[in-house]
Amino acid sequence: MPTPAKRIHATRQRVAINAALDGAKGPLTAEEVWVLAKKAKPGLGLRTVFRNLQEQVDEQALLRVVFPGQPPRYEKPSPRHHPHFVCLKCTGVFDLPGETPDVRAQCELPAGFEAVGSEVTLFGYCADCRSEKTAPRAARAKQA
Ligand SMILES: [Zn+2]
Repeated sequence: MPTPAKRIHATRQRVAINAALDGAKGPLTAEEVWVLAKKAKPGLGLRTVFRNLQEQVDEQALLRVVFPGQPPRYEKPSPRHHPHFVCLKCTGVFDLPGETPDVRAQCELPAGFEAVGSEVTLFGYCADCRSEKTAPRAARAKQA
């Protein structure tokens, strides 16, 4: 059994990690979680974040979402299966409103295959990346 001090330490790590995920516009990579969480919990290590995220996936407290060409991302389970938007420039992933049907029933699989999930992903450019394309950098800095 961990000592009470270690348990409190672990709880604070988890609180910082979950606060980072709660404040996000979409699922985050472990590294993105780490950058946000260490503002609240300085000294938090990336390996600790990885371990904590994996523990929470094992406990089904978090979902791991995988997008092609990107490291795994993590999000809280949601009552609705929602679509995501992937920005082709900054690679940011955003939750979209609405609900997506499970399309597995409509897809014919080769013999012996098993699909364990489905994702609906739109891709394109997020608002920040789109405005970067049209506005010069100096003009954008003034707006911020
Ligand atoms: Zn973007």
